[in-house]
Amino acid sequence: MDELKSTLLKYWGYPSFRPGQEAIIRALLSGRDALCVLPTGGGKSLCYELPALLLPGITLVISPLISLMDDQVSRLDARGISAAALHSGITRAGRREILEKAARGEIRLLYLSPERLAASDFAAFARRPDISLVCVDEAHCISSWGYDFRPAYRKIGIFLSSLPDRPPVAAFTASADMRVREDIVSSLGLRDPYTHISSFDRPNLRFTVERPEDRRTALFRFLRKHPGESGIIYCLTRKDTERLFRMLSGAGYRVSFYHGGLSPEERVKQGNAFLGGDADLMVATSAFGMGIDKSDVRFVVHYQLPSSPEDYYQEAGRAGRDGLPSECRLFFSPKDVRIGRRLIDSSEKPRKEERAKLHAMVRYASGETCLRAFLLAWFGEEAPAFCGNCSVCCGTDSPDWLPPKEMREAELLDTLHAVRRRIAKEKKIRQDRIFRDDELRDMVLLLPKSKADLLFVEGVSPFRAFAFGGEFLEEIRLWRSLYRQ
Ligand code: ADP
Ligand code: ZN
Repeated sequence: MDELKSTLLKYWGYPSFRPGQEAIIRALLSGRDALCVLPTGGGKSLCYELPALLLPGITLVISPLISLMDDQVSRLDARGISAAALHSGITRAGRREILEKAARGEIRLLYLSPERLAASDFAAFARRPDISLVCVDEAHCISSWGYDFRPAYRKIGIFLSSLPDRPPVAAFTASADMRVREDIVSSLGLRDPYTHISSFDRPNLRFTVERPEDRRTALFRFLRKHPGESGIIYCLTRKDTERLFRMLSGAGYRVSFYHGGLSPEERVKQGNAFLGGDADLMVATSAFGMGIDKSDVRFVVHYQLPSSPEDYYQEAGRAGRDGLPSECRLFFSPKDVRIGRRLIDSSEKPRKEERAKLHAMVRYASGETCLRAFLLAWFGEEAPAFCGNCSVCCGTDSPDWLPPKEMREAELLDTLHAVRRRIAKEKKIRQDRIFRDDELRDMVLLLPKSKADLLFVEGVSPFRAFAFGGEFLEEIRLWRSLYRQ
């Protein structure tokens, strides 16, 4: 048996590597930079923990969350590997002690937050000892395109170039976005990195979309089919999270909840209840999840439409990390689109990009194509047109969800009115200078596809069609895809 396999067996007790792990480990041991994109649950940590054990010097691991660091350190401790975390939760004396131990070569892996890199005690330390490897975990935090942008991550590159002898650098992420990857490479200054990009397919996950008339009823129906199983229910807002939490605990479910508005103590308490099994269910906003290692999550329900395929896949992917069959269900109602838009308009992210992502989620939910094929294609991966394990392929997608025709048309008219109000406000012009009421009504009847089509609406001049038409056409296009018209 070679050294890698025997180390794997000795310290981790695993008989073999997962796809990609061994080649990444060999690249790091040979002193190469690396960019590793593995899906959640793919086994990222091992890819740097094992080299850290074999390399002569210390390995630094830059990690975004204190809880994540502490968790990793205690797992390494349990395996007899000496590791420590340096973060604001530790006293100054404690930090000094850790750094002294590290300088004596008694620590294999040192975890720290990106903010720590600039602290004076650490900067002094970093100039001295032999650093064999620097790992950047959750490296997508570097990119403002990414899921969890963290400005301090931007400074890692500066830190690296300040080191007297720059060690190999390895970046790890589960984000599949191409621009995020490019950002990581350029911001960290990776040199000819060994690049590993795993397939993002998770065959054990069954993707389903449901368009319930009443979400609460649908949720109870779903939960009744999964008694005692562990699952996460994602909501868009804190208010919904609390409301759902009350409803479920009132109905006798063992449930915890989590969102960004909770105090740190409360977060830990709620998170632990779920991780430790005291609660079967976790109702949460997207604030919950990063670094959560609970392998037996049997389902992830999205109570409302998430804002992008990236967010969706990241969150849904928390199901079934143990490889057993698990379900990712999305509840969708056309109403969600409006809420999603409002969130986009009130955020600072680029509106056009964010809208395109939201619209992609609408296309996902509209169930025209295999759900898995859709997601994989979004991440640039080729996949068969039918997976046989989603609600589109299995035909369990209820076809009778379409509301009566008049209701749909009223909804579109409503939306067009809202667009007109917004443009009028932004441009400070009268609403009827944009389009008149009867013109909006005609648009609903004619469903124009292009600015040229708009000219068929009686009274619309080329000037108005070109100056204002774009956003109206976008709404009409979206509505069409929503209702497959
Ligand atoms: P992530 O990529 O999400 O960070 P982790 O590193 O937490 O994933 O690994 C996910 C799970 O897979 C962990 O429970 C880990 O112990 C396990 N694991 C990692 N590598 C292997 C392996 N080669 N064989 C068996 N289990 C593994
Ligand atoms: Zn499918």
